[in-house]
Amino acid sequence: MDTNAVRERLLKRRDELRQRASDASADLRHEADPLSADFAEQVTQRENDDVLGAISQSAQVELQQVEAALRRLAAGRYSSCAVCGEDIEAERLAAVPYTDRCRTCAEGGRAAAGRGARG
Ligand SMILES: [Zn+2]
Repeated sequence: MDTNAVRERLLKRRDELRQRASDASADLRHEADPLSADFAEQVTQRENDDVLGAISQSAQVELQQVEAALRRLAAGRYSSCAVCGEDIEAERLAAVPYTDRCRTCAEGGRAAAGRGARG
């Protein structure tokens, strides 16, 4: 595995996610777009804020996963499944570069008993 290429890819993704999260939170603070005095307009703005909040939250969740992957990469554990210790499939890492578990564990197989409720 070309760890340098993987690291580059993860760092690039981290920058994108940081940018997205910070753009969304700047918009949420209405720095460039103060809340309107018009009620109907405010409703639209608040709906927009809900979307921005979801974008910001999902970017932050993925950001944490990417940062964890970078730590595993630095520790030499990047391609080992965090649950069962087996190698994670190369094509799975290519598709989901921040994953920490093999396909079997990700699909709930061996890990199902140890994991809490969804959400
Ligand atoms: Zn596994």
